Amino acid sequence: MGLYHRFLRTVALPLGARLAGYQAVWPYLRQLEASQWWSLEQLRALQNAKLRRLIAHVYEHVPFYREVMDARGLRPEDIRTTDDLELLPIVDKHVITANYREALRDHSLPTAQLIPASSSGSTAERLHYWTTKTQKAKKWAGLFRWWEMVGYRFGDPYFTFQLAGNRGLRGIPVLEKLEWVMLRHRWLSAQQMTDEILAEYVRQLDRYRPVLFRSYASTVYYLACFMRREGLRVPIPAILTTGETLSEDMRRTIEEAFAPGRVYNEYGGDGMQIACECEHHQGLHINAETYIVEIVRDGRRVPEGELGEIVLTNLEATATPFIRYNIHDVGALNLSPCPCGRGLPRLSRLEGRLTDLFLTADRHWLTVHQFTAFFAKIPAVKAFQVIQRRVDDVLIRLVVDETFSEADHRRILETFRGYLGPNNRFTLEFVDEIPTTPAGKRRFFISEVIETTATAATVALPDRPGASS
Ligand SMILES: [Zn+2]
Repeated sequence: MGLYHRFLRTVALPLGARLAGYQAVWPYLRQLEASQWWSLEQLRALQNAKLRRLIAHVYEHVPFYREVMDARGLRPEDIRTTDDLELLPIVDKHVITANYREALRDHSLPTAQLIPASSSGSTAERLHYWTTKTQKAKKWAGLFRWWEMVGYRFGDPYFTFQLAGNRGLRGIPVLEKLEWVMLRHRWLSAQQMTDEILAEYVRQLDRYRPVLFRSYASTVYYLACFMRREGLRVPIPAILTTGETLSEDMRRTIEEAFAPGRVYNEYGGDGMQIACECEHHQGLHINAETYIVEIVRDGRRVPEGELGEIVLTNLEATATPFIRYNIHDVGALNLSPCPCGRGLPRLSRLEGRLTDLFLTADRHWLTVHQFTAFFAKIPAVKAFQVIQRRVDDVLIRLVVDETFSEADHRRILETFRGYLGPNNRFTLEFVDEIPTTPAGKRRFFISEVIETTATAATVALPDRPGASS
């Protein structure tokens, strides 16, 4: 098997990628494999060098940045280190989508090289931007490094559990055709998950014993709950969860179904592969060669360890630059050395999409998991929805059955008073059902404060730095 891995890695895959125009994957992956062991100082120096190159380039070729920097009296040489980034404005999905066609694009690239891309988050509005084959190749290299970090080698069988039709190694057409056979990749559809279908999936996993199983956190959790009910287990060395917040309860359930200590949380979004857990599971290593991560609250950086919004600078993207991009997720930085020896800094306390949590008038973060855990203890509550209408005003909708008692009611009032503190108002509303979104999803948690602030930012930028946060 060692020979086959080597053949794939050194001959077949590079050849396939070259034919498809994605040859940048392999040299970049080799760089990432080496630099993950560098010290934090070496990685910072690399980031600074890449940042200087990026800023010089966007000042020359991207009208948006030429304008912003001229208006602030900035020259490219004023941005020398990651600390100097604070001189530039924070942007978000709305700013990029409104400007990507013209002002926010790299005019040195021929139009033929620009590939349109889009992504939708947990909310309805889509992000639109340009990418290139080289950028996509580097993105894949970042992802492949995580796979290797969790023990996968090209040629090992792997499974993907996902909603949409499988496109495999997306965007690498030649590999797409090869991978089914050569890479021993199988795909399970998450579109329908009846007990019969789930039982069949468990049989397939047991038969092919993949080394790597990639899935959205909620989907593999759903499968693991089924396996627990049925008393089933399949040992799989690495479960890579992505796309959503992974709670401790979800992690435990998935581990029970597959393997203790082998659930690796990966974090990406809006077309970026940002961070992943190593075998020590103490936070997620950041792809620091590609992304500068800042943690920001009220438009200002917060110290290491403090929670704030994640603001990203993609050092390898110019087609549409992502410089100080507020992805509207929440986390904290951990710069201390990891026991694995990798110098890559870590994201800790990753709290997921901003719509999974909100900030109260007392500046406390509340997460959706606090509410799910609390209501799980009151069987008379069949469903709930928490809506932050203003920063200090919360509406809690409840669907209850006939066993709902006065004591339950009191307990909810007392608990929410404790959660929300004295400076927040809240209202309980008893309803017959919780409405679903147009996509059929039930949202437990809606912050109208966050969603309207994000929309307002389109108009406010680029004159006001940090207006989007
Ligand atoms: Zn580590």
